[in-house]
Amino acid sequence: MSNTRIRKDFIMSNVYFEDLDHGITMIDAQLYRQGQVSTYLMIEGDRAAFIETGTAHSVPGMLSVLEQKGIPPENVDFVIPTHVHLDHAGGAGALMRHLPNAHMVIHPRGARHMIDPSKLNAGAAAVYGEAEMERMFGTVVPVPAERVTEAGDGDELDFNGRVLRFLDTPGHARHHFCVVDEAGDGIFSGDTFGLSYREFDTERGPFVLPTTTPVQFDPEALHQSVDRLMAQGLSYMYLTHYSRVGDLKRLQQDMHELIDIYVDLARARAHDGAARHDALCEDMMQVLIRRLRDHGCRLPEDDMRTLLDPDIGLNVQGLEIWLDRQTQT
Ligand SMILES: [Zn+2]
Repeated sequence: MSNTRIRKDFIMSNVYFEDLDHGITMIDAQLYRQGQVSTYLMIEGDRAAFIETGTAHSVPGMLSVLEQKGIPPENVDFVIPTHVHLDHAGGAGALMRHLPNAHMVIHPRGARHMIDPSKLNAGAAAVYGEAEMERMFGTVVPVPAERVTEAGDGDELDFNGRVLRFLDTPGHARHHFCVVDEAGDGIFSGDTFGLSYREFDTERGPFVLPTTTPVQFDPEALHQSVDRLMAQGLSYMYLTHYSRVGDLKRLQQDMHELIDIYVDLARARAHDGAARHDALCEDMMQVLIRRLRDHGCRLPEDDMRTLLDPDIGLNVQGLEIWLDRQTQT
C-alpha cells in the first residue's frame, strides 16, 4: 500500500531517499517496509556523518547515496545511532567497516553493547525469535572499542564547524540520546518523540504515537524527555520512524495524552492473565484508529490496522514488561 506513495524520481539504486534542507538527506533503511525506518546523512562542507544506521541490510543503500552525493567514504567522520535498538544501530559495525575514518558516537549506556553485541543479539532474539531476527536485522558485528566515543548529557561535537549537542533522553530506553542540530533547526529524536508515518498525514499535518518497545519504557521519564526536547525551541524533529515533522506543539500534546492513555490501558488489564496481551493490542488499536479518524485520516480500517499492527505488538510487549515491574515492587 505504501508503494503508491513513492515518488519514482527519488528511487535510485533501489534506495529511497529525500533531500531535506540544511545538508540533511533522509535515507530509507529498507527495513520492514519502505516508509518505516529512516537513517540520515548530514553533509557539512566536504565531510559527512550518518545519524542512525538501520541494520546490516541498510548499509549498501546508505553507501550508494553517499556515493551519489560525491562524498568519498574516507570523508565520513561520524556514525551516530541515537540508541542501541537494532533498527537504529544494528548496522553500525557493518557500516563502519566501509568508513575508515569514522568514529561512532553513542550513549554511555550503549557503548559496551556496540563493542560486544552479543547481548543485543540475544535480546532481539528474545523479542523477535531467532529466525525472524536474522531475516530482519542480519548479523550485528562489533565496533572496535578504539573507534567508539561516548557522549554524555550536554556534550557537544564539532562536526566540521557544525555543533551537534547531545541530550540524555530516557523514557523509551535508558541508552537513548537525542542530537540537537541548531543548523538544521531540529533534533534527531530517535524514538523519544514517537512515531509518525507519512501515510497518516492529513490536512491537519502529521499524526504521532509513542513507542514503548521492550524493555525500558518509563512513562514519567518519557514525558520529561519530550518536554526537554521541546524546550530547545527548534522547529523540527528528525524522526527515525519516519522522516522530518514540524507542528511540534500539537504533537507534544498528543505524545503526553497517548503516554497516559497507554499506561491507563495497561493498568486496566493488569489482572487479565493469559488474555492480557491480545486484549491490550486490541485496546490500543481501537484508541489509535479512533484518533486517526478524528485526525481526518480516510484510509480504510484494514490499511490502518496493517500499518499499526507491528508497532502495537511491540508497544504492548514493552507496556507489559513495565506493568509487571510495577506490580513486583
Ligand atoms: Zn527504540
